[in-house]
Amino acid sequence: MDHFQLRDGVLHAEDVPLPLIAEQVGTPVYVYSRATLERHARVFRDALSGVENPHIAFAVKSNPNLAVLRVLANMGYGADVVSGGELTRALKAGMKPEDIVFSGVGKTHAELLQGLEEGIGQFNIESEEEGYELAAIAARHGKRAACALRVNPDVDARTHEKISTGKRENKFGVPLDRAADIYARLAQEDGLDMRGVAVHIGSQLADLEPLETAFGKVGALIAELRGQGCTVTHADLGGGLGVPYKAGEELPSPAEYGEMVARVTKGWSVQLMFEPGRVIAGNAGILLSRVIRSKRSGNGPPFVVVDAAMNDLARPAMYGAWHDFDAVVPTGDRMTAHIVGPICETGDTFAMDRECDALVAGDLAVFRTAGAYGATMASSYNSRGFVAEVLVDGDKFAVVADRIAASAIMDAERVPEWLA
Ligand SMILES: *Cc1c(COP(=O)(O)O)cnc(C)c1O
Repeated sequence: MDHFQLRDGVLHAEDVPLPLIAEQVGTPVYVYSRATLERHARVFRDALSGVENPHIAFAVKSNPNLAVLRVLANMGYGADVVSGGELTRALKAGMKPEDIVFSGVGKTHAELLQGLEEGIGQFNIESEEEGYELAAIAARHGKRAACALRVNPDVDARTHEKISTGKRENKFGVPLDRAADIYARLAQEDGLDMRGVAVHIGSQLADLEPLETAFGKVGALIAELRGQGCTVTHADLGGGLGVPYKAGEELPSPAEYGEMVARVTKGWSVQLMFEPGRVIAGNAGILLSRVIRSKRSGNGPPFVVVDAAMNDLARPAMYGAWHDFDAVVPTGDRMTAHIVGPICETGDTFAMDRECDALVAGDLAVFRTAGAYGATMASSYNSRGFVAEVLVDGDKFAVVADRIAASAIMDAERVPEWLA
């Protein structure tokens, strides 16, 4: 369920007609719905009603906009961050340091120190080497870092290979069969409070079975750790729940996920932690775009060239991902078209042979389910600048990220004197 619906023939974000946003802010522009974000945050938490005191940390990388983070902070969500920049954002948005989890395979010395100084709740350690480095920094500063060890359960998440993270050949976590030894060694370090294990096997999972398999392995590891005298009080089950990108597509619901989690983790006696990203933000945003023109080449379907491109929404070019594409003021007529952006790459294609609303130059259209891994992956390729972002709340809206013009990016560049 989301709040991007037709009213009197015009697509709205909550109570705001999208043409009004296009007129005032220009296109392309991301539009997020506060009511949808809050609804998803509530639905996910309610789905975990069978779990005692779950800790939920929004995966900031899926949508790091400060206003979006503030909405979730107000819902009591913490943050899962994967860089110093994301940590700074989460704090600025009002997330409590103790509710922040720091994940990521390549935390630098500076980032580990930043996390310690800010007093974050947990580091998810991805290697023994990282553990010793953090221990040394913590000891030097007279601190103790609360840590979970991220394990790689060697489970195929059956998602796109670029967002699969739990196979042995992926760079993430420590191999399950070495995890108990590594955990025991790290637990000896004065600077570390080894308190749990973490797992995250991938994103856009369309199936609960790989998750259940991975969680089962985590449960066995917890028992093994306790058997060898280690303390385990936390288990971080990551994110990964998929969302429907196509109207009518069926995916496991948060409720089904929550039931599975409650069943599999029964008797673990730990605080469970979660890091949802896409399932919270995905359907809470759209990318609003205007058709520049339609062109024909040969006798195939026309190319509909929109003013959004792969630099604004990378998922189709990167993962071959599908986004539903709908007119803002549909006439009822349909067409088959290739939907492309203006960038000089064939990869700048949103859809081929797409059956969609009939559109002509000047019409507005949206790519749906663009609230996660949308603006956050934007670049300025082709000197197109950075796309603007808007948050809607009932009948009001605000620009929550300015459009950054190509000229502003150019201001940070200079030609050295010796080239004059
Ligand atoms: C990306 C990521 C998430 C969020 O994944 P979603 O599929 O968006 O829920 C959670 N945890 C870690 C460690 C991640 O890298």
